[in-house]
Amino acid sequence: MSDAIVTLPTDNLVLPFAVKPLGIRGRVVRLGSVANDIIHRHKYPPSVSALLAEAIALTAMLGASLKFDGKFILQASTNGAVTMLVCDFATPGKVRGYAQFDAEKVAGLEATDDLTPADLFGTGHLAMTIDQGQHTDRYQGIVALNDDTLSDAAHRYFLQSEQIPTRLRIASGPLMSRGAAMADIWRTGAVMVQHLPDDGGYSAIEGSSGDAPPGSEEELVEDDNWVRARVLMDTVEDHELLDPTLAPEQLLYRLYHEDGVTVFPAVEIRDECSCSRDRIETVLGNFSDEERADMTEDGQITVTCEFCSSRYSFAARDFADA
Ligand SMILES: [Zn+2]
Repeated sequence: MSDAIVTLPTDNLVLPFAVKPLGIRGRVVRLGSVANDIIHRHKYPPSVSALLAEAIALTAMLGASLKFDGKFILQASTNGAVTMLVCDFATPGKVRGYAQFDAEKVAGLEATDDLTPADLFGTGHLAMTIDQGQHTDRYQGIVALNDDTLSDAAHRYFLQSEQIPTRLRIASGPLMSRGAAMADIWRTGAVMVQHLPDDGGYSAIEGSSGDAPPGSEEELVEDDNWVRARVLMDTVEDHELLDPTLAPEQLLYRLYHEDGVTVFPAVEIRDECSCSRDRIETVLGNFSDEERADMTEDGQITVTCEFCSSRYSFAARDFADA
């Protein structure tokens, strides 16, 4: 035992970092109990749980960059087995999320041997919204979903909406112990690098000079530092994102120690919903008497929060004079 132990959070966090010599900024996400609690509350089929956990990691990663108080909202709507996926991040570090899906289609996909996360989304769109309150404009970027994964869509978002060379990896799944899945303990993790050199001069990025489809013969001139950063990033394995015994600093050290990596204070992430009795009461008060009558059963109006499954009951007569 060392006599000076400094305890830093190693889980349920977003850790920002920079590789200054390469002009790289990035973030690592590690979610243990936060992901596990959300997944267990919903009790979705495993494939939907895995997708939701990934979406929560992505939401935490992008939300943690908010510079003011506010919200980051990620929303996918598709015609596939998972029809809707909604996650949000509220400063300083609250995340929540839920999915809507066609249970029969999901069961059909899960019965096949080679289900991949991309199979759950059909075509549709992925919207990312930043809402920092009344003093700033609400910003929304939207990209198409075409039978691809969340990380494919996120890459496309950064290319099209932000025009920043970006590489990210996301993984989710049950905790592994000696090679065997411990099915009941869920984790998710992610890592992202972006080329944002201090002196400007960004790399050319795929698709930036037009709408050439990926893989076409468009000439790309990429900065050598960026190429190095993204090639190293591509060596990250899923288990490195999920392993609770591998500290995020260790992962970064493995990737970028030759170039010199700097880490910044972590953003702690919490599993916390922003629903409240007062807020739901206000919403119900804004409905018409007729609408409320339709919701009333045995004199009670009961509302269940889709994000956290909390149930709120009100006596219908309390709204009589609203
Ligand atoms: Zn809630």
